[in-house]
This record gives sequence, structure tokens and C-alpha cells, in this order.
Amino acid sequence: MIPADAANLTVEPLGKLAGNAHASCPIRLDGVRATTGQVLGGPRVVESAWPTLRLTGILECLNVSAMACGLAHAATLSASAFIRERHQFGEALTGFQSIQHAVVEMSTVATGMQLFLEHALRAHAAGTDATQAISMAKYFCSEQLQQVVEKAVRVMGGRAYFDFEPVSRFYREAPFCLFAVGTVEIQKMLIARMLGL
Ligand SMILES: Cc1cc2nc3c(=O)[nH]c(=O)nc-3n(C[C@H](O)[C@H](O)[C@H](O)COP(=O)(O)OP(=O)(O)OC[C@H]3O[C@@H](n4cnc5c(N)ncnc54)[C@H](O)[C@@H]3O)c2cc1C
Repeated sequence: MIPADAANLTVEPLGKLAGNAHASCPIRLDGVRATTGQVLGGPRVVESAWPTLRLTGILECLNVSAMACGLAHAATLSASAFIRERHQFGEALTGFQSIQHAVVEMSTVATGMQLFLEHALRAHAAGTDATQAISMAKYFCSEQLQQVVEKAVRVMGGRAYFDFEPVSRFYREAPFCLFAVGTVEIQKMLIARMLGL
């Protein structure tokens, strides 16, 4: 056990662009000595840290891809509902072909993202090495999400800028997918290796 009075614990919550459903805090412990027996998860974790990290990384890639798909579908639904309700120049926005095209593009890309994710999930569930399919899904979904949320903001005009409009939150949450569990650039590096490049 670590004597409580021996430790000087500092927790500093950081302000964030998004992801505010939970706090992110650097935690600093000064004056603490921990033996391997005191490591969270026990001494075995010290030896098996890398394989454990690798496995959780793979599962987290699926997690982040699913988050990207959810955000893309939600942004598409919000934009679709908005263009039915909003009228300009005497007609609903659905009457403007450029607006229709934007929503068609969003819907198509969101569907493509979901199909890619399902492909990766099936490969993982089959028990074979699904690393390449999962890395590709994470890269594809993270990158495509950015254009979907941006299109939603364009389609919804000034309304998307306000906090009460869920799309403003989707727009702020989307960049997380670009770096969580390794940045897009790192994902591409891993995929290049798997392709033997
Ligand atoms: C609030 C928050 C929560 C997070 N939660 C998690 C989590 O739960 N799980 C998780 O896995 N990650 C999580 N992350 C992501 C993780 O902490 C890092 O942000 C992520 O791994 C990227 O590392 P970095 O921020 O140090 O970027 P850096 O490594 O500093 O990268 C900066 C830029 O340089 C590029 N770069 C770096 N190295 C290379 C290279 N070798 N070749 C080409 N380009 C390169 C990157 O692609 C990027 O564009 C979280 C991040 C935040 C902010």
C-alpha cells in the first residue's frame, strides 16, 4: 500500500474542444514509490503490456470507427430533417438541387463508412487477423466523417453554429476520430507496412 500521506496527488482537469461527457486530467503523484506488485493489474501486466495494448488498440479502432459512423449518420439525419423544415425563396430547401446533392453525398458516404465498419467487424469476428481491415476502417471512417459533418454545417447554414443544434456538437466531436488510437497518418503507415510497401 502507498501511504496516503507520502503522496502528493495533483489532478488538473483540462478544457477541451469536445468530449466533455468526461474530464481529461493529467494526474501527478509526487513522492511515490511503487513496486511491481502494486502496479494496476498485477505484476503480469508489466511483462504483457505490449500485447495487451495491441489488443485494446484494435478494439478501440473498431470503437472509434463506430463512433465516426454514428456521428455521420446523426449529422445526415439532422441535415435531412432541417432541409424539409426550412423554407427559403418560397420553398423548402429540399427543392434546391445543390442541397439535395449535398445530403445525397452525406448519406452515401455515411453508408459506405458503415459497410466498411461491418466488413472489419466480420473479419474480427471470424477470428482471423483482421488488423488490416480494422486499420483501413478506422482510417476511412475518421477521414470521411470530417467531410460529412462539414457538409451538414454548410447545408444548415447559421443554425448549425448554435449550441442548441446537435450538429454543432457533431462538428466539434468529429476531429477526435482523426487522432484517437493513432492518427490517420500513423494508420496509413501501418497499412502501408501490411501492404508490403
Ligand atoms: C482527450 C483525449 C483523449 C484520448 N483518448 C484516447 C484513448 O482513449 N485511446 C487512445 O488510443 N488514444 C486516445 N487519445 C489519442 C492519443 O492520446 C494521442 O493524441 C494520439 O495517439 C496522437 O498522438 P499525439 O497527440 O502525441 O500526436 P503526435 O504524435 O504529436 O502527432 C502530431 C502530428 O504528427 C504526425 N506524426 C507523428 N509521428 C509521425 C510519423 N512517424 N510519421 C508521420 N507523421 C507523424 C501525426 O500524424 C500528427 O499529424 C486521446 C487524445 C485526447 C486529446
